[in-house]
Formats: sequence, structure tokens, C-alpha cells
Amino acid sequence: MMKILHNLINHHLQPADDGQTLPVYAPATGQIYGQVPRSQAKDAEQAIAAAVAAQTVWQGFAPEARAALLNRLADLIERDRQTLAEAESLDTGKPLHLAFELDIPRAAQNLRFFAAALLHRSEAVHARPGFLNYTLTPPVGVGVCISPWNLPLYLLTWKIAPALATGNCVVAKPSEVTPYTAYLLGLLAIEAGFPPGVLNIVHGLGHEVGTALCNHPQVGAISFTGSTRTGALIAQQSAAAFKKVSLEMGGKNAALVFADAYHEQAPEAYRQQVLDTLLRAAFVNQGQVCLCMSRILVERSVYARFKADFVARARALKVGDPADPNTDQGAVVSAAHYEKILQALHTAQTEGGQVLCGGHAVHLSEPHDAGYFIAPTVLEGLGPETCTNQEEIFGPVVALQAFDSEAEALALANATRYGLAASLWTRDQGRIQRLSRQLEAGIIWVNTWMARDLRTPFGGVKDSGMGREGGWYAMHFWCEPRNVCIAEI
Ligand code: NAD
Repeated sequence: MMKILHNLINHHLQPADDGQTLPVYAPATGQIYGQVPRSQAKDAEQAIAAAVAAQTVWQGFAPEARAALLNRLADLIERDRQTLAEAESLDTGKPLHLAFELDIPRAAQNLRFFAAALLHRSEAVHARPGFLNYTLTPPVGVGVCISPWNLPLYLLTWKIAPALATGNCVVAKPSEVTPYTAYLLGLLAIEAGFPPGVLNIVHGLGHEVGTALCNHPQVGAISFTGSTRTGALIAQQSAAAFKKVSLEMGGKNAALVFADAYHEQAPEAYRQQVLDTLLRAAFVNQGQVCLCMSRILVERSVYARFKADFVARARALKVGDPADPNTDQGAVVSAAHYEKILQALHTAQTEGGQVLCGGHAVHLSEPHDAGYFIAPTVLEGLGPETCTNQEEIFGPVVALQAFDSEAEALALANATRYGLAASLWTRDQGRIQRLSRQLEAGIIWVNTWMARDLRTPFGGVKDSGMGREGGWYAMHFWCEPRNVCIAEI
């Protein structure tokens, strides 16, 4: 049955004002399963008006009351974990077990984390003889949260939780490609008892309702996660209005594997950990995580051994029905993205890359015969200047490169316009410290990947990001500090 999704504005579930809709596809079957509002400026206007009207009430809630509502929403997400995981898997094509184990629990955790942060927040006092300064941290006001399709509920809650915790009313604009769990979240927000207008969710296209939201004069802050191209556009458009902007954008992340992490004498368990982790880093969620390692740089003396082991493991990954618990790789998110990845694989070969495994679409039987499946792909023979090693593919595609020295590894790792994350594999403590200083990335993992602590700063440098999310960084973004200086008289 066709699912009809609605906007959430001022506690009302409603279609776009002009009734227009967009089709929503299930990537694993290629079939349309629902319709979502194709909202326009008028819908943006309504949602912002609702948020503006609710601002004084929400800001006036005691921290405990705001935290209780965020925790209540987390409770409801946990209660509906299976339903939400099924919705996320249907919408994105990702394995159901991944949505159940990662996406949905993390969404609840995001809300709980910022509810707790709110209760532990204290404001600064700077005292000096004759004067007392204290700093108030009121909310910015109405915030817009724009999220992408790869981790829909996970990233939406990562944005709205700190915004709401700090007393901002929010208009969220989820990706039009994957709107389902955002719609369900809206239903849960009503059930949790949020006051009308505090959380509004409008669906539609980025260049239509997204632009209208970002350009609205009553919006004080925009938190965006998505492509670098869109982030640049939002930065440009909001600069003249001096809006606060936080941008989490694309990446072309490198893992650096040194010989001491993979030589014959390294403990077997350690070598297995390198392989297990980098396999996940390359292919989890079909390679559609901004933190995925799409380039693996390996010291030449262990290159052949690493390549053989890694390719054998990549070949063994099972591509299939997202609902099957044995599936490692589901479908990629859309027909357009599927075509883009296949085109990138073609480009890789025309620029001299050798395909070590994968390199092609996977055709499954009914009902998945029109789904968007791509074999996990490992490439080699491509220099740092190639499109394959420069441009974000955001699919199950990884390119191996060999290096001869630490200096060369560093130069290769830094040789892109992006700077989101790096994963360094070595047991040499001096090298860990040197490279951690010199790698151009906002997040550096050493002997691990995607080990997340929500308190840490999250974000990229260069074309990967502006600002940081996570912990107090996100809480600060959503506040407009005001200093009060009192003279002793
Ligand atoms: P996208 O930029 O196409 O879209 C992201 C969101 O922005 C969507 O909701 C879209 O509707 C909206 N949007 C598009 N144009 C807009 C405009 N002009 N004004 C306002 N909103 C607009 O990105 P995507 O394809 O959905 O997501 C994939 C990208 O996201 C990849 O580049 C990936 O690296 C990046 N990403 C980054 C992080 C991070 O934390 N750095 C996390 C996840 C994904």
C-alpha cells in the first residue's frame, strides 16, 4: 500500500499547501512505495511562523522539562525500534540489521546525550576586582536543520537534539530521498508531548523548500549536513544575513597502513583487526558514510599481502536482500546515485585503474531485480591526481595506493580538497604523534575507525566542513552568548 507522508507544522500533519508531492522509492526494489509533500516557500513560511510563535514558550521551559521531553522522545524511538529500522531499511536500501543495530539506537542516544548535557551545563563567571561578569547563553532562536539520506534518522536527531536542548525551536528538512523515519519521528514528537511549533518537519526539494528555509529572515542558525556543493551554496546565501552556519560536508578519507601494522611478525589478532576494521570502513552502509575510507594507502613492503587479504574479504561480502540477516551489503540509495557510482567505476578504468574485485552492478532475482545493487569494489593503479582519488564517490568503492615512506604517505593522504577523517594504522608512538599533527583532517582515528564518543568535536577541515558538532561544540553553536558585566558600587 502506498504510504502518504506529511509535513509536521505546529503539531498538524499536513500536505504541501499546493498539494504537490514527490514519489519515494525503495532502493532494494526500485519501486515507488510512498509520496511525500513537495513543499514550497509557503510551507516554509508556515513552519517558521509556528516555530517563531513557540519560541518564547520553549525557551521558558526549565532545563529539566526540556530534558524530560527529549528523553521521552528517545523512549518512544526505543519502543518503536523495529518499526523504525524497517522504515529506514525500506527507504535507504541498507541492511535491516544495520538500521536496527546502528541507526535507530544511535538516534535515541543522540536525544539522551543532549538531554543529559543540558542538565550538566553551567554558565561562565569571570570575576575581577570591582567587576563581576557572567555569561548568559540564550538560544539563537529559530534554527533550520538540513540532513542527508545516508543516515537519515541518526543525523536528523544529531542536529535537532542540541538545538532543542538549548531552547531553540526547529524546522527540520530531511532529505527528499529518505523522508520516512523523519515523518515517523514527527508522530512520536506529538506523542511525547512537545508543545506545538517546537519541532516542525517539512519535506521537499533542497533548491525549493530548503532554499526558502535557509533564506528566511527569521532563521538565526542553519545546521547542514550534505554535499560540499550544497554547503557552499548555503554558506554563500546566508553570509549576507550573518546567520550562524554549521556545515558538515563531503570527504575523501584516507586510511594509512604502515608495515609495522601488517608485517608477518605482527600479532595475528592485530592484523585481523586491521582487516576487519578497514573492511567495515570501506563498505559499511554500501560505502555511504561520510567517514568511510575510500582510499587505503599501504606501505609497499606489505602491500601485496594486504591487497590479497583485503580483496579476499571484500569478495566474500554478501550483496542481497536488506531484510536477510546474512546480507552484508544492501542497495545504494537511489537510481541517480547508482548511475553515478557506475559512472565513477567506468571513469576509474578509463584513467588506468585495475579492478581487483567488483566493479559492476549486481542483479538479483525478484522482487529485487530492479534494485540498485553494486558489488563491493577494490581498485588499484590509480595516482593521487585521478578523479577516482580526488572526487567523492560515496559508494562501495575503495582505491589502494602503495607508499614508500612516512612523508609520502602523508603527502598522499593530504592530496585532496577534503579533510574530514583519517585512520592511521601503526604501532610506532612517535609516528602517531607526528602524523596526528600533520594530517589535514578534523577526526583522526589511530588503530581504529568510527569509534565514536559523542563528547568529542565532530567535523572536517578544508572542503569537508565549517564548525564542529558533538558535545559542547554543538551546544555552543545553538546559543548566542551574552555577557553581563556588573560594577561593584
Ligand atoms: P545534498 O547536499 O544533495 O543534500 C543534503 C540535504 O540538503 C538534503 O536534505 C537536500 O534536500 C538539501 N539541499 C539540497 N540543496 C539545497 C539548497 N540549495 N538549500 C538548502 N538545502 C538543500 O547531499 P546528499 O546527497 O543528501 O548527501 C550526501 C552527502 O552528504 C555526501 O557528500 C556526504 O559526504 C555528505 N555527508 C557528510 C557528513 C558529515 O558529517 N560531514 C555526514 C553524512 C553525509
